[in-house]
Amino acid sequence: MKIKFWGTRGSLPQALNNGDVVAIIGDLLNEAEKRGLSSPSSIKTALDRGELSSPLSYGGNTTCTEVSHGEHSLFVDMGSGLREAGTFHMPNGVKEFHIFLTHMHWDHVMGLPFFVPVHVPGYTIKIYHVHRNGPEAVKINFNGVNFPLTFEQLGGKIEFIQLKLYEAVQVGDMKVTPFVLDHPGGSFGFRIDAGGKSCAIGVDGEFKRMTREELGKDLPYYQNLDLLVFDAQYEIAELASRFDWGHCSPNIGVDLALRETIKTLVFTHHDPWATPAKLRRMYKAAIKHATSQLGTFKSEWEAAGQPSGPKLITAWDSLTIDLDKP
Ligand SMILES: [Zn+2]
Ligand SMILES: [Zn+2]
Repeated sequence: MKIKFWGTRGSLPQALNNGDVVAIIGDLLNEAEKRGLSSPSSIKTALDRGELSSPLSYGGNTTCTEVSHGEHSLFVDMGSGLREAGTFHMPNGVKEFHIFLTHMHWDHVMGLPFFVPVHVPGYTIKIYHVHRNGPEAVKINFNGVNFPLTFEQLGGKIEFIQLKLYEAVQVGDMKVTPFVLDHPGGSFGFRIDAGGKSCAIGVDGEFKRMTREELGKDLPYYQNLDLLVFDAQYEIAELASRFDWGHCSPNIGVDLALRETIKTLVFTHHDPWATPAKLRRMYKAAIKHATSQLGTFKSEWEAAGQPSGPKLITAWDSLTIDLDKP
């Protein structure tokens, strides 16, 4: 099973301006100088080897995650990252796309009008939704006012599939099951199981319910899990002032991963105001938190064959994780 992140920003796309690029290059050159690197080739080599702060930029597309297994793939959400996914897959002969919607907030649906297959006859886009008003909310994108084309004028075929909570559907041999996340207006995570591997998308979610009792029917979707994609929009210190905004923080994900033995935890839905330096700082804080708490769950992690605890990753646009490779 592979997971590819086409968009990792939350709320709003975040384009780099010239000042941002200059700051990134400045930080890179300072770091290279401290390590005694001066030639462009030595800096490039060190970057490729991950010896310097990497990635240089986490990207700016809003949320869109592809999960694939064998010949089949599906997308969770269709933020602005979906645009690139379309032009990547079309030359490979893919004619049918499966998109699962967590919810209809703007950052999760804004990519569809610019997803080329919706405009080309012969392509089918299947949109799976739990919300009853899913079709209506997606069609707002094509009202002829906010976008020049109406839904009826689209060349591709869009089909809507109403999902029932906790009831699985199949895409190829991937089993996809929706569960509940804590988010204003409702948001639904998806757990995907195939070929003995599993991942779950926990975005957008505030994770107000954290104990096993509070999670209740949603608890099994975090158990025996290889990878969890986690809503890590804010630093832990920011959470109190953003109560009820529907997003979470890396350290809360660490607590969940440690307790439920989730092998890999991926932070995403980055705040549009989060600079690369802030994301790196949040990542270091999460590593420190995991290290300090690991002892409490030592025996569980030893039994799971991963005594160092959960692997933590901050996602960036185009990151690909292959769960079948060690
Ligand atoms: Zn969002
Ligand atoms: Zn949202």
